[in-house]
Amino acid sequence: MDNDIYWQAVKKNDARFDGAFYFGVKTTGIYCRPSCRSKLPKRENVEFYSTAEMAEQSGLRACRRCEPRSTGQTVDDRVKMVIRSCELIGSDVTLTLDDLAREAGLSPSHFQRTFKEFVGISPKRYAEARRIDKFKKDVRSGSDVVTAMYDAGFGSSSRLYEKAAVNLGMTPAAYKKGGAGMKIFYAATACDLGRIVVGRTAVGLCYVGLGDDESMLEQELKTEFVNAAITRDSGALKDYIKVILEYLDGHSRSIELPLDIRATAFQIQVWDLLRTVPFGRTVSYSEIAEMLGDKNKVRAVARACATNRIALAIPCHRVVASDGKLSGYRWGIERKKILIQKEASA
Ligand SMILES: [Zn+2]
Repeated sequence: MDNDIYWQAVKKNDARFDGAFYFGVKTTGIYCRPSCRSKLPKRENVEFYSTAEMAEQSGLRACRRCEPRSTGQTVDDRVKMVIRSCELIGSDVTLTLDDLAREAGLSPSHFQRTFKEFVGISPKRYAEARRIDKFKKDVRSGSDVVTAMYDAGFGSSSRLYEKAAVNLGMTPAAYKKGGAGMKIFYAATACDLGRIVVGRTAVGLCYVGLGDDESMLEQELKTEFVNAAITRDSGALKDYIKVILEYLDGHSRSIELPLDIRATAFQIQVWDLLRTVPFGRTVSYSEIAEMLGDKNKVRAVARACATNRIALAIPCHRVVASDGKLSGYRWGIERKKILIQKEASA
């Protein structure tokens, strides 16, 4: 159930939603229709039900004031459609306006208008808000910033940053206390694949990012290690960058540098396995899952690859889909293609 849209209807006493769902209040043991004028309960005490029967089966009594059972009114089909769309958005944040309109059997403009009429904001803004919600929740429950961004459907962290000031009221990084006490030095340089930003601690390599835009990579580094003291220092990175460029130039087949990996146990497991994939070879996400002893972990493996923050040294570019397709790459699919070709022809 899409709680967000329901809660909004309750807050507004929106009678258009009467019959479409019911809400129960744990502390009072009573359930109501959305338009009930009783005092607004606290959000954490509220549960939603699609039918009055379900509310009663949970042990709730009908409210005497709004008499949720007595209505018998038919619910506007548009309300049902809007609720269904919100559920779809909640379950898959990558759906486009066209997808949703098709699902609803309406033209995109008609769909957009109807959605806005009942929800108050456009489907796009609604989806954005849901992504931000999910991101906040994930980070609060301990996920790292980039993994949370990925899970919340933000393709790249720059997109979240664009929205952050408006929706989050602060930078995404402020949600996370990662990297506290760490001292990171970094430097940037040009390479065949564009710009490369390399970060290290006293322990070892902690970040390698590839991209077209150096400042975006710097921002990502800072997002990953938000509480770390981060200083640009080419001197401290000279040897590290040399080793990485030797690999990129085809003069060496591996990046022999100490790593400073701060990650979840699962990420570490996956990343360790990635480091056993030989130069010039590829494996599939499902093969990695099998190596981990759980075939069902394919998606989790893909996620661990997508959140790898040490490109090249942890060779997530060597993981492809089972059908041989390249699948995704945090640092751009074109770069993955080039890396695989380069290694294959070396
Ligand atoms: Zn009531």
